[in-house]
Amino acid sequence: NQVSDYVFPQREEAQLVISSNDIAKMSPTEIQKLAHGFQVYQIELERQNAVLQKTQSQLLATKYRYQKLYDCAPISFFTLNKQGYVTDANLAACELLDFSEIQLQGTKYLKYIHTEDQSRFYLFFKLILKTIKKQRIEIRAKQSNGKFIDVACQGACNYTNESEIEVLLTLQDISEQKRVEQAIFQLNEQLKQKVSVQTEELVSNNKQLHEKINEIKSSRRQLVAREAKLNSIFNAAVEGIITINEKGTIESANSAATKIFNYHANELIGKHVNKLMPSPHNELYDDFLQYYLPSHQAEIIGKIRQLDGRRKDGSLVPLDLSISKYKIDDKPFFTGMIRDVSERKRKELVDKQHLDELAHVTRMGLMGEMASGIAHEVNQPLTAIATYCQVSLSMLNTDKPDLLSLQDVLQKTEKQALRAGQIISRMRAFITSNKLQRSTVDINELVDDAMDLGRDDCQKFSVECSLELADALPSISADRVQIEQVLLNLIKNSIDAVSKLPKDKQRKISIQTYLREDKKIEIRVKDNGQGINEVEQGKIFTPFFTTKESGMGMGLSICQSLINAHGGELRFSSERTKGSTFYFTLPVIGNSNED
Ligand code: ADP
Repeated sequence: NQVSDYVFPQREEAQLVISSNDIAKMSPTEIQKLAHGFQVYQIELERQNAVLQKTQSQLLATKYRYQKLYDCAPISFFTLNKQGYVTDANLAACELLDFSEIQLQGTKYLKYIHTEDQSRFYLFFKLILKTIKKQRIEIRAKQSNGKFIDVACQGACNYTNESEIEVLLTLQDISEQKRVEQAIFQLNEQLKQKVSVQTEELVSNNKQLHEKINEIKSSRRQLVAREAKLNSIFNAAVEGIITINEKGTIESANSAATKIFNYHANELIGKHVNKLMPSPHNELYDDFLQYYLPSHQAEIIGKIRQLDGRRKDGSLVPLDLSISKYKIDDKPFFTGMIRDVSERKRKELVDKQHLDELAHVTRMGLMGEMASGIAHEVNQPLTAIATYCQVSLSMLNTDKPDLLSLQDVLQKTEKQALRAGQIISRMRAFITSNKLQRSTVDINELVDDAMDLGRDDCQKFSVECSLELADALPSISADRVQIEQVLLNLIKNSIDAVSKLPKDKQRKISIQTYLREDKKIEIRVKDNGQGINEVEQGKIFTPFFTTKESGMGMGLSICQSLINAHGGELRFSSERTKGSTFYFTLPVIGNSNED
């Protein structure tokens, strides 16, 4: 500025022009003056020269500093001329591309750019020149070893001293940044892929879920429909249905059940089932459940049992109960099917009373008809008593009565009198009740006693009588008098049958006892009488059928009903001219189907 600001003094200049034209015409004073002026001018020039030199050295220092800065800057600088040739490159730039400055200078810059980026760079370069504005681009720069690095390139215009336009490029290595970006990009891609896979999975899961939901909805609809159907069956059922859990708490009760017990459903649900049971069962119900669960279920499940229930008013209601079991989530529940059998029970009672009346009437009728027959039976001991009394009297009428014989006769009299009494009391018992007066009976002993009673008749009709009694027979539970009566009847019939045999033929009766394989005792009364023909065989158990003049035809039918009442059977086998065998069975104690 100091140099440019300096202005030569016009006068001296004008004088210098004049002096060169006409210096000889000047006076010495004027020459002296001019010389002085030149001296001053020279001093001034020297001073200005000194200033200029100083400025120049300052400029050089600045240039040198700038050069240093330019070379040492961490940023790579390239200077290109407008044709795109490298005119300058700093150290960082050389290091970046791994070329020396000399190698770079004068070369076309495009040479150091990836072929794929060259056209972009060309446009970028043109744009800088055209707009004179800063531009930015990212390209791949090629190094001396042929490798590429990512650089961010910024370009701006500059004018040289010669007013030539040039382009200044700064390059920044962004490979790391790119690598990170790439890594991020890859991560993003992976993430995207993952997300897309997961999204696909989610979509497919969602679809499956939708399908499942639809399935559930449809099965729920079916369930609801089924429940509605079951509910309608449940409530329309004639039988009462109650479900309880394992603690005995009522879960549900249908309308039939509430009707049977006269409760409202709300009064039952959630309550213990013992509410419906009469005391003391209700107190024992917990024990009952524990007892039956889980090992004894088979004994109650699926079987119909009869028991009493308790209505709301405390009255009892006879029930048929069957229980079934089901499980929900491994927890047992029980369904009780209940039938009110009050009406059936009432009918059964009426029927029984009716039957009893009938039996009574039948017995009465029978007795009327039997009276004369029984009279015959009673007549027997009475006749015997009369005979024994006559014998006793005649024995007493002697001078020396044989008291021992008299005692024997009187004992026989007593026995016959007792027998008559037994027959009468037996009749009374038969009329008043059909109940058996059971006691434990040794059948062989009973057969012995009966045989004793028939022995007189045997003697009278010369009948040989034998017993074949099995040893160690089990006891039976029987009405002693009734079985005795049966035996007597059979013996009497046999005696009657053999009595008709010719006198020269041996008349035999035998009584046998033995234990059958089915654990029943069989008693057989066998004779060798004339037997029963086929026509009569079909009739002999019919009341009032008789082939005897003084017979009643009631003996066998009464015997049959007495044996049946004991749970046994009376049968016979007979062969014309060979004899008959009447046999009956009696169950032994502990093997009875009765009671
Ligand atoms: P009743 O002895 O009064 O005739 P029962 O009912 O005892 O009545 O016998 C019916 C009939 O059966 C007898 O009349 C007789 O014809 C026949 N009967 C019974 N037992 C025998 C027997 N052991 N042998 C042949 N016939 C018999």
